[in-house]
Amino acid sequence: MNQIDRKISAAPCPICRKPMDAAFKPFCSKRCADIDLNRWLTGVYAVPVTEDEDEDGERPAEPGEGDRS
Ligand SMILES: [Zn+2]
Repeated sequence: MNQIDRKISAAPCPICRKPMDAAFKPFCSKRCADIDLNRWLTGVYAVPVTEDEDEDGERPAEPGEGDRS
């Protein structure tokens, strides 16, 4: 009589919301674990993915940014 399955009740993958895989927890796969790691490494983890903030054009010019594409 084991109605409560701890695997199912676990939190979903924080990256893609799929069910977590115990082998990669708290992620569902190696790929999502890599995505999360990459977010940390690139320093964007704490910042929501919004690209609206450049609209004002107040961003200070960065050295070597003359080449726009
Ligand atoms: Zn995932």
